[in-house]
Amino acid sequence: MSATDPYVVTLAPQVHAFVQPDGGWCLNNAGFLGDADESLLVDTAATERRARLLREAVLAEGLPLPRTVVSTHHHGDHTYGNGVFQPEARIVGHENCRTEQLEAGHQLHLLWPQTDFGRVDILPPSVTYAERLTLYVGGIEVRLLHPGPAHTTGDSIVHLPEQGVVFTGDLVFHGGTPFLPMGSLSGSLRALDLLRSLDAPTVVPGHGRVTDPTAYDATERYLRWVRELAAEGHAKGRPRWRRRGGRSSASSPRGGRASGSWRTCTGRTRSWRGCRRARRSTRWRSSATWRR
Ligand SMILES: [Zn+2]
Repeated sequence: MSATDPYVVTLAPQVHAFVQPDGGWCLNNAGFLGDADESLLVDTAATERRARLLREAVLAEGLPLPRTVVSTHHHGDHTYGNGVFQPEARIVGHENCRTEQLEAGHQLHLLWPQTDFGRVDILPPSVTYAERLTLYVGGIEVRLLHPGPAHTTGDSIVHLPEQGVVFTGDLVFHGGTPFLPMGSLSGSLRALDLLRSLDAPTVVPGHGRVTDPTAYDATERYLRWVRELAAEGHAKGRPRWRRRGGRSSASSPRGGRASGSWRTCTGRTRSWRGCRRARRSTRWRSSATWRR
């Protein structure tokens, strides 16, 4: 196995995480659970090929093909592979996940037109909920909780109270930069409080290695730093990254220097200008929610 191959981590009896190194852009995590009679999947993958690897991993653990796929939010890395689990599975998610997914369409094709995504059908949740929903799969209680606008406006936390496991979706990037343009910074901080209140010792982030609640602290430090930087820039009448030379003088919470505004955009591979282009091309929603 190479360092970039996906791998499975067993978190509890019949509960598994499917981790895609290195957790960067579109290398998201998924999860699956159940027994010999039925199974549930948390998220899929960005390409048909990767979703088929996930399908094989489910079968290799002795589980049947999932009857339920939970989408933690609408982003294509978590939902593009939904078609690989048809016709067996129904898709479940927050009601805003459905509307956002329909609106976004083939968003990743616009961002990376050179990528071979394989066959991608846009399959939003056909079963939706507003605040919380509990499912029982193979004797496992699976709680879906909507934290309010956070990473997007349609996020779901997937909590297994008896197993002490939580799948956070992209509310947590372990080792990566939080991504907020379609959600809310203050809402993301509230979502971290909700995650902490669950007291689950095993945390499966949306991207990055399986971890524990210390990942919430790192995310919170970053979000608070961004908020302080934004407030400071706003008070002075213009964002710091627009100063002469286009460079911020602020130190990042990781000890480095924040160059331009790329850190507030998403992370390691995209410049702010690239982000703006992507936002235009994907017709990201300019709702009051993500302007907050
Ligand atoms: Zn996402």
